[in-house]
Amino acid sequence: MSEKINVAEIFGANVFSDAVMRERLPEKVYKEVRRTIESGAEMSLATADVVANAMKDWAVERGATHYTHWFQPLTGITAEKHDSFVSAPVNGKTLLEFSGKNLIKGEPDASSFPSGGLRATFEARGYTAWDCTSPAFLKEDATGKILCIPTAFCSYTGEALDKKTPLLRSMEALSDQAIRILRLFGNTSATRVTPSVGPEQEYFLIDREKYLQRKDLIYAGRTLFGASAPKGQELEDHYFGTIRERIGAFMKDLNIELWKLGIPAKTQHNEVAPAQHELAPIYEEANIATDHNQLVMETMKKVAGRHGMHCLLNEKPFAGVNGSGKHNNWSLISDDGINMLDPGKTPHENIQFLLVLACIIKAVDVHADLLRESAADVGNDHRLGANEAPPAIISIFLGAQLEDVVKQLVETGEATSSLKEGKLDTGVHSLPVLAKDATDRNRTSPFAFTGNKFEFRMVGSSDSIASPNTTLNAIVAEAFCEAADLLETADDFDAAVHDLIKKYLTEHQRVIFNGNGYSEEWVAEAERRGLPNIRTMVDAIPALTTDKAVSLYEKFGIFTKAELMSRAEVLYETYAKAINIEALTMIDMAGKQIIPAVISYTTELASSMTAVTEACPEADVSVQKELLLEVSALLSETKVALSALQGLQSDGVAIPDAKAMAHFYKEEVVPAMAALRAPVDKLEMLVDKEYWPMPSYGDLIFEV
Ligand code: ADP
Ligand code: MG
Repeated sequence: MSEKINVAEIFGANVFSDAVMRERLPEKVYKEVRRTIESGAEMSLATADVVANAMKDWAVERGATHYTHWFQPLTGITAEKHDSFVSAPVNGKTLLEFSGKNLIKGEPDASSFPSGGLRATFEARGYTAWDCTSPAFLKEDATGKILCIPTAFCSYTGEALDKKTPLLRSMEALSDQAIRILRLFGNTSATRVTPSVGPEQEYFLIDREKYLQRKDLIYAGRTLFGASAPKGQELEDHYFGTIRERIGAFMKDLNIELWKLGIPAKTQHNEVAPAQHELAPIYEEANIATDHNQLVMETMKKVAGRHGMHCLLNEKPFAGVNGSGKHNNWSLISDDGINMLDPGKTPHENIQFLLVLACIIKAVDVHADLLRESAADVGNDHRLGANEAPPAIISIFLGAQLEDVVKQLVETGEATSSLKEGKLDTGVHSLPVLAKDATDRNRTSPFAFTGNKFEFRMVGSSDSIASPNTTLNAIVAEAFCEAADLLETADDFDAAVHDLIKKYLTEHQRVIFNGNGYSEEWVAEAERRGLPNIRTMVDAIPALTTDKAVSLYEKFGIFTKAELMSRAEVLYETYAKAINIEALTMIDMAGKQIIPAVISYTTELASSMTAVTEACPEADVSVQKELLLEVSALLSETKVALSALQGLQSDGVAIPDAKAMAHFYKEEVVPAMAALRAPVDKLEMLVDKEYWPMPSYGDLIFEV
């Protein structure tokens, strides 16, 4: 029996949307809110009071009991503290209240959120400020219904302590500079340009009962031990495969929850690895897309629980099969409807597009280190550079058509033609002849042009998309600004723009690469071209605080130097803490579960040998003996590696400086973890499954 789902009716039901505001607010108030949303005009407290009251009535009618400022501290996840609408009782009765002041400003204690030294613990004050560009919504779960107000989070002195504030600043900077570019080409109608973002979210689903039997999944979100299952992804039979019933039921509920929140969930399919899936929404403004992606991740976890499953968002939950990423599709769309990344049918004639493209190529080349850093997180270290995800080297894929135009421009200074799209003939008469794109896809490029947008494919599955988009917006704003500075004062605009495009393309063509990004040759070739290859998160962090980065971010008011330094500090701390948790988890599992299990098994083997020999002295017990020798040797290797890891872990936590500590964990502790894992994974292949203290890879990813 399947009930009827009315998507149109469900969609946005839990959102205090523009339509709801228009319906519920007096005309004058509604207009003032729109002005604030569109141009950042200040809102009066009187208006905020009216909006707050309408919000409260709307929420309470739907059964809400509490409100919260909902924000995104540097933990990468979201934060909320609920306050009920209850006011001080009068004669035993309470009125429900929610004022403009409550709506606009909150004062959570900031001292327990990461700040990277921006705020001493005695200066605990932090503020949350209403971001009216992202609509308020109702979160529905076991807690009841909570009115969530998206907010920015900053310190007493105004420094950003969150991911939203810099993103909003970067969007404003980019819009200002993009408008200058549009004006150069005669556009007078656009007033705002918005980065539009569609993040494709990959994830794993496993059985919750089995999840609960693995301490590594519980504490670290990924397996720290585990021998490969006999089957992996080699048959390529999972990607786009039929969605099994249990997963389908999850996807159905997930979609409903997301649609209620106004999240345009669009595409769902099985991904490459067994137990791996993907969800892609329709693109939205960067800020809203970022908020919505946080909600997507949270809702996935919640709904998985309801279906007796657990959702793993870690970038590399299982060794040996593909990890998860988040393709960040990004384009620039003006409020008069122009996508600045749309080349049209004949890109060689589209000078505005070519200038935009040249600026982006320049920005990506100049700030490859920043882009790389923006996609760095602890889990992504296992993915980038492996044969499944874009390498750690930033390069741009343009595709045959644009590459040809760029080549013409660089070689002759003129582009006189564009490769045409073709026809796709299948050789079957009953099938339609399809128009074929002028350009094929390249799945190995970290930064690929895909028709009318760039797809930044490095981002990790568990990461917030705020940093990658803040970075993209900032570096492109800078390139636009430099181009506009030159072109606005040019005597002969046509000649100047032509020269500038040629100059940028010539100087930065080294970052364009259309070949196989997974190949060894590319690593060598990129080195010859002088492109940075930053292999790990820890090595990527210094990019944030170079003079180049500071001057970029300060120029556009996106980060101060102090904010950048604090973020670097938080990242070092985060890395060290995350690896420390992983190390402690391995120590715990090896010491309390694995070694005891192996000892039980060797005892069983030994007593079986004695029993067999007693019963039948001439029986051959060489198999038991061989096994006993092999298992015992691995057992002592395990114990040695465990002791080594224990020693390094206690040295690591004692290091006072965050950067030194992060390096110690990367260079000393991570290899010691690998050294402990190796004998344990071999043991898993030898020891009787009845004795092995946790579900295997096969149990986890093939028996969902
Ligand atoms: P793919 O084949 O790479 O999966 P899709 O067309 O399915 O491409 O799009 C993937 C994501 O890109 C979706 O989230 C989609 O909404 C988003 N997207 C499409 N067009 C744009 C655009 N102009 N700007 C930003 N994102 C876009
Ligand atoms: Mg896709």
